[in-house]
Amino acid sequence: MQSQQALKKIFSFEFFPPKTEQGAEKLRQTWRQLAQLKPGFFSVTYGAAGSTRELTLGTVLEIQRAGYPAAPHISCIGSTREGLAEVLAQYKENGIRHVVALRGDLPSGTFGGGEFRYANELVEFIRAETGDHFYIEVAAYPEVHPQARSAQENIAHFKRKVDAGANAAITQYFYNPDAYFSFVDECEAEGINLPIVPGIMPIANFSQLSRFSEACGAEIPRWVRMKMLGYGDDTASIKAFGLDVVTQLCDRLLTAGAPGLHFYTMNSAGLTSVIWDRLHLSSR
Ligand code: FAD
Repeated sequence: MQSQQALKKIFSFEFFPPKTEQGAEKLRQTWRQLAQLKPGFFSVTYGAAGSTRELTLGTVLEIQRAGYPAAPHISCIGSTREGLAEVLAQYKENGIRHVVALRGDLPSGTFGGGEFRYANELVEFIRAETGDHFYIEVAAYPEVHPQARSAQENIAHFKRKVDAGANAAITQYFYNPDAYFSFVDECEAEGINLPIVPGIMPIANFSQLSRFSEACGAEIPRWVRMKMLGYGDDTASIKAFGLDVVTQLCDRLLTAGAPGLHFYTMNSAGLTSVIWDRLHLSSR
């Protein structure tokens, strides 16, 4: 964990672009509330194969125009070089200097048909097209990406993105801090020493989280799962226990030297703000 000791920790909040006016209003209230916490930046996801391109940009610009730093995500699978060059030019024209670069996942039943296979190719492309204009974040998987054949391959593929010019990384969410500590140590051993910020998923809806975790390869520890299942429909207990689990996770990560936290807010400020307050992050 040595290379992760940062002078100033970076905290960020992730949103997805809302598709309705009602969703947009809810998100506006969320980012206005979370902006009081003075995060390093907000980030806004990018739908599969560019499906939310304008919504992502629109949301980022709205936040940015209100005076807060915001980074759009950009994904490459199913895209052409020409299409991505256009997106990058649009980001550049709008004064954006920070992006989260991903491969992305194609919706099931869709064919690839693009010119990019992996995120390292996207990072290379961004650097070739725009030099050092963008601060580039990439994704990292302490519990191993579901399509990686081994933990070693998982690190080797992560290294390709770093070597291609990434500045920092944000992890997939996890609930087992040892997976993160071990991943960071292995990265250090491979000479990777950029900030690897843990992605944090507060627990709101347990059954939804379980399904999603299956798909993205995030493990919910058995003791957490069994306790959650035992609560049945008692949403108040699920929420209270989830807050305890996630707050303790964040505390362990920060105490051990994690360079910050990136919260998957699901466009709600509630749980993230409670965790923030419990960790006393405003005065830390
Ligand atoms: P890659 O780094 O390309 O890895 C994908 C898989 O391919 C891995 O298994 C890797 O081990 C393997 N691999 C990589 N390079 C090679 C190679 N050269 N040869 C063989 N195998 C290789 N998705 C979205 O659609 N939009 C978003 O906005 C979005 N935001 C995200 C934000 C964060 C912080 C994270 C963690 C994920 C996000 N995702 C998003 C999900 C992400 O797109 C998926 O996890 C996707 O499956 C992998 O993306 P990647 O950029 O990590 O891909």
